[in-house]
Amino acid sequence: MNKTLGNCPYCQEGSIEVRKIEVEGKSTKLYACSNAHWGFEHDMAELTKESTCSFRIFQNALLRWNKKAIGEREIRTLLEDEQVKVRLYSSRAKKEYYKWLVLDEEYGCSVVWDVFIDSDAEDKE
Ligand SMILES: [Zn+2]
Repeated sequence: MNKTLGNCPYCQEGSIEVRKIEVEGKSTKLYACSNAHWGFEHDMAELTKESTCSFRIFQNALLRWNKKAIGEREIRTLLEDEQVKVRLYSSRAKKEYYKWLVLDEEYGCSVVWDVFIDSDAEDKE
């Protein structure tokens, strides 16, 4: 049994599982609906025919913005509140910043770029 983090927001029937997968020889985590089955070919993920849901978020989905891994707790919050605050890092400005991460049916999750969060205020929480 895989560990589960919450109910699937898309199909309502499945639960979001933590799956350990290997991509390019490195082990990583995939958060996926129990009704979503993935096959991997040349490191490209493809849904199998038995799948009835496509929910999935790769742990390293925010790597481009210098967030190495989306944590299980962040996924739990995302499932419960439909959004979660994530800390990203700008290598150009050499500075951390915060953004909201929301569910995205096509990509799993997406960053809300046009909403600015005052990181100084957040630190005092
Ligand atoms: Zn689902």
